[in-house]
Amino acid sequence: MSGQHQRLPLEVDPFRLATREEHLQGTIPLKQMKRLTSALLNDEGDVFIDVGFSVDINHVVLLTGQIKADTKLICQRCMEEMQLPIEIDFQLAFAKSEAEMERLPEGYEATLVEDTPIMLSDIIEDEILLALPTIPKHQDENCHSDKLAESWNKQQDIETNTENVKQDNPFDILASLKTDK
Ligand SMILES: [Zn+2]
Repeated sequence: MSGQHQRLPLEVDPFRLATREEHLQGTIPLKQMKRLTSALLNDEGDVFIDVGFSVDINHVVLLTGQIKADTKLICQRCMEEMQLPIEIDFQLAFAKSEAEMERLPEGYEATLVEDTPIMLSDIIEDEILLALPTIPKHQDENCHSDKLAESWNKQQDIETNTENVKQDNPFDILASLKTDK
C-alpha cells in the first residue's frame, strides 16, 4: 500500500469489485451525505473509510471495514452542541434480488442492490445513520441541562428564604408586644 490517499470512486459495483477483492481507503466529505447531515449540527468534516469487497465461503458478496468520523449533534437534554466521535466496524452483504436476500444464511446484514453501480457514499451513510443514537444526550457530567441548573438554583433560593424567615421571625414581634403590656 502506498501511503498516499487513494481517490475513492463515487460509484461502485460491489459484485465486480468483490471478484477483484478491491480495497478502498480514503475520505468522503460529510457534505455528500445529506440524509446524515440533516441530523447533525453541521456538514463540516470528512468520513474516513477503510473497507474491502470480498466473496465469502457462502458465495456472498461482502463489504467489510471501518468507518470513522467526528460528528457534532445537538444534545436533546440541554439543546447544546455535543461532539460524537463515530467509529464503526461493519460487514454488509449484497444481494441482487429479493429471492437472493431470502436465500442468505442467518447472520448477514444484507442490502438489496438491483441496479449497479451504486453510490459508495450511500452505503457508508446508511451505516453511520444506523449507528447514531436515536436521542443524542451528553454524559451527565458534560451536560449543560437547564433543568439541572434550575433545580440547583431553586435549592439555593429555598435556603436563602429560610435564612430570611429566621431573621424576620413574627414571634419576635409577638414577644415584644407582650413586654409592652
Ligand atoms: Zn446536554
